[in-house]
Order: sequence, then C-alpha cells, then structure tokens
Amino acid sequence: MRLGLPLRRRDIVCQQAVELVTDYLENALSAAGRRRFERHLADCPHCTEYLAQMRATIELAGQVTADDLTPQMQDEFIALYRQWQAASEGD
Ligand SMILES: [Zn+2]
Repeated sequence: MRLGLPLRRRDIVCQQAVELVTDYLENALSAAGRRRFERHLADCPHCTEYLAQMRATIELAGQVTADDLTPQMQDEFIALYRQWQAASEGD
C-alpha cells in the first residue's frame, strides 16, 4: 500500500539502490542494508528492472566487478531514472 508520503528518512533512494546492487548480488551487504535495499525494490519497479539486468549480465559474464559495471551502466541507469522521475512529475 502506498501512502503518498515523502520518503522516510531511513529509506534509500534509487541512486543509493543502484550503488548497492553489486554488493547485494555479491551478498556483501549487512542484514540491515539488505533489508533496506529489498524494501526499496519492493516499491520501485525501475530498480527491480535494473537488478534483473545486472543479474543477467553477471550470469553472462560469469562474474562482474565494480569496474565492469561503473560508471557507464550506472550513468545509463541514472539517466533513465531522471526520465522516469521527470515523467512522474508531469502527472
Ligand atoms: Zn529505485
């Protein structure tokens, strides 16, 4: 259920979620960080999609290091996110 409230202070935003994706996939997050990340995903189809793409990339590549992912993929995602954000602000 969405309450339409602003982000709670402890919630992460998309950019933070993007930065956490590789750690998440490598099981490098703390339990709290993991919960926070998953809670963000539960409410964010864009980051869910990004995670799915990242997971597929890792399966293809066998393994992915942070250097493989950044900065280009993150830049692309952040550009996409800005488009989504601009679109939703137009509602
Ligand atoms: Zn997000």
